[in-house]
Amino acid sequence: MAFSQQHYDIIIGGTGCSGLSLAWHLLSHDALRNQNIAIIDDGTQQPLNKTWCFWHTDHLPDPVPIHKSWNTLEIFAGESHHLAPLENLSYHCVRSEDYIREMTKALRAFPNLDWFAGPVKSSESNERRALVEIPGRKLTGSHYFQSFGDADLSRSRYKLLQHFKGIEIKTKTAKFDTETARFMDFRTPQTEGATFFYVLPYSENQALVEYTLFSPELLPKEKYDEAIRTYLSDHLGLEDEDYETERSEFGVIPMADQIFRAGESGRIHYIGTRSGIPKASTGYAFSRIHRQAHAIASGYAQSGRVRITNPSAAKYRRYDAIMLDVLSRHPEFGVKVFEALFNGNPIGRVLRFIDEKSTLSEDVRVMASVPRIKFLKAAVRNFKF
Ligand SMILES: Cc1cc2nc3c(=O)[nH]c(=O)nc-3n(C[C@H](O)[C@H](O)[C@H](O)COP(=O)(O)OP(=O)(O)OC[C@H]3O[C@@H](n4cnc5c(N)ncnc54)[C@H](O)[C@@H]3O)c2cc1C
Repeated sequence: MAFSQQHYDIIIGGTGCSGLSLAWHLLSHDALRNQNIAIIDDGTQQPLNKTWCFWHTDHLPDPVPIHKSWNTLEIFAGESHHLAPLENLSYHCVRSEDYIREMTKALRAFPNLDWFAGPVKSSESNERRALVEIPGRKLTGSHYFQSFGDADLSRSRYKLLQHFKGIEIKTKTAKFDTETARFMDFRTPQTEGATFFYVLPYSENQALVEYTLFSPELLPKEKYDEAIRTYLSDHLGLEDEDYETERSEFGVIPMADQIFRAGESGRIHYIGTRSGIPKASTGYAFSRIHRQAHAIASGYAQSGRVRITNPSAAKYRRYDAIMLDVLSRHPEFGVKVFEALFNGNPIGRVLRFIDEKSTLSEDVRVMASVPRIKFLKAAVRNFKF
């Protein structure tokens, strides 16, 4: 078979959040807007049906429409109930279909960006360029960025999964306070590990209700649905006939340490999920993806080199490992950890800590708030890491 061959400055594999974000950050940079870029997706995971939540908007591309924001978060953990105003922050959500539509529209305005539909069949590189094979063509690029494929878990010491199912419901009558997002609600059996719901009200009669577990194994499919039905009845007063399900989402994110990987060689780089970008102890990735894309583009513009660094500074990697250690050894203890965390800290401090923007004195206060003996033992076990 004869292959046609085209050369690009940059090739991006995958048009999920990280592929589109990287293309946008590259082309929005004055020094890079004339780069020739190829972007490829095989459509296997499109449409994505994801709802992305986050609270720091740094490096979020302009075209991204925020679906809804809240200024108060509600938490039920153990005996505690908190209604916490966010003061200088907001909790936002973006729907993946809006993100992909608007980012694609904005990127299609660049004539130097070529779109290819189909799978990347193989990629290899030498010191000067990467070679990427797609059906019927070979593309060469000075750099190839790949966002798909599983992160490498082989070096991880912890094998927890964050798995979740969410349904977007429309109720017949007004049911929700649109000003308050229910951030974590642990009023559900804790038999598998730390298990909670979150509820994102979009309007008085529309909300996303998501069931989330931190545990080593997935549940049989029907168990997610049963748990959601029970929660809707027990805590929102909704029986089957009171609502319609408009959309659903399901996800599995490894909660694993030491999975960051920058790429295969000098010319093949990993981004997004493939690079291990979700935060080990929470699975949050959306903000981190945009910070990574921004850092790649500005580093490349300045030096002509690509450098992909671990998204978490060493101290946060250690905190994550300690948290994973405690949750893995004492799965039944998760709710107590979160109860202590929210009782002992204002919500803004917890969010800054999770988003790795806390000061050292805030870190000390967060660490002092969680159950001491189990965390100290975990800290000792992770001392050398
Ligand atoms: C349901 C769900 C909800 C989430 N919610 C949040 C949240 O609230 N907050 C948060 O911070 N994080 C969240 N995350 C985590 C994270 O933000 C997302 O997983 C994010 O979408 C990762 O984007 P990505 O581009 O790295 O990977 P992906 O979205 O997986 O994109 C990979 C792309 O590659 C394409 N592809 C696959 N194979 C090939 C191939 N061989 N050739 C070419 N293309 C290919 C796929 O079609 C896809 O478009 C959530 C994850 C899930 C699954």
